Amino acid sequence: METAANSIRVQRTGQSRLSEIDFNNLAFGQHISDHMLVAEYADGKWGKAAVLPYGEMAMSPAILSLHYGQAIFEGMKAYKTSSGVITIFRLKRHHERMNRSLERMCMPPIPYDLFEQSLTTLIDVDRDWIPTSEGASLYIRPVVFASEARLGVKVSDQYKFVIMTSPVGPYYSKPLRVKVEETYVRAAEGGAGFAKCAGNYGVSFYPTQMARKEGFDQVLWTDAKEHKYIDEAGTMNVMFVIDGKLVTPRLTTAILDGITRDSILTLAKEMDLVVEERKVSVEELIETHQQGALTEAFGAGTAAIVAPIATINIHGKDYTLPPASEGSIQARVKKKLTNMRLGLEKDNHGWNFTLR
Ligand SMILES: *Cc1c(COP(=O)(O)O)cnc(C)c1O
Repeated sequence: METAANSIRVQRTGQSRLSEIDFNNLAFGQHISDHMLVAEYADGKWGKAAVLPYGEMAMSPAILSLHYGQAIFEGMKAYKTSSGVITIFRLKRHHERMNRSLERMCMPPIPYDLFEQSLTTLIDVDRDWIPTSEGASLYIRPVVFASEARLGVKVSDQYKFVIMTSPVGPYYSKPLRVKVEETYVRAAEGGAGFAKCAGNYGVSFYPTQMARKEGFDQVLWTDAKEHKYIDEAGTMNVMFVIDGKLVTPRLTTAILDGITRDSILTLAKEMDLVVEERKVSVEELIETHQQGALTEAFGAGTAAIVAPIATINIHGKDYTLPPASEGSIQARVKKKLTNMRLGLEKDNHGWNFTLR
């Protein structure tokens, strides 16, 4: 069956997999919804997007993204309220960040209208895939990659923009044991750390595997020059509570500009918390921990929203933090963010994009 929605062609699957999904038991990213969106860039412009049954795509092994790494992605979430209203969290901001990533990798920007229509059409088609239980959501994964088949080193002239979605349950993160990384580097200033490009993940796997072998869940990346300042936590931004203030490393070109990070900082200020975006040194963590001033540490990202950190290992020594109580700053900002998303609190910033 083919129907036109907006100007996006929709080709529905004849065989939905929806009935095979156990919505009470969703591992992150395990199931991909029935449909995907595909648009192609060629001859200097983006062509018409189409919603197609999710499945394999035939491609040459010579596509430039495989060899030279022109590939970027996004990670965002859609929610369905009990009354059936579907919202996408901070769609505009995700679009802006995606275009910043694209620019850094010499890839063509996605026009806002294409982005919005693509998402809304795809999510509307797969609306029954959005879980409704508390804390559950539809994870959205847009990806753009170079698709020109050619072996010579060059900026690709062809790209594919694909969006997939995946129902995800509430993310209960057990308190993490993290290690301050002082040997390996995820990104250096002037590099592409701020871009959500595939290569940033490729280079981070090895040090993360090493840390896992030593019994850690993740690493805390430090600056590439001196390993003196904290950058971020594995695949999340990192925040600390020091002397009752919410402290986070200020953004550099080596740090991913997290939308959860920005949301938490914005809400924390409105909660009259003192917020500091500045350099956070490894030394400061040791000193403030010894003084008892460092009371909380947590990761911030779309998947977990807030992931408590229980132990920070620095130069081989464990610095342990008390379990986050209900009155902790991380619990309070998480609740505020969740309530705003659910419409229990006013969305003063227009962060909830509502599907018509
Ligand atoms: C995506 C990502 C984050 C978190 O960003 P959100 O927009 O909050 O999901 C943090 N660090 C890295 C390296 C990331 O890729």
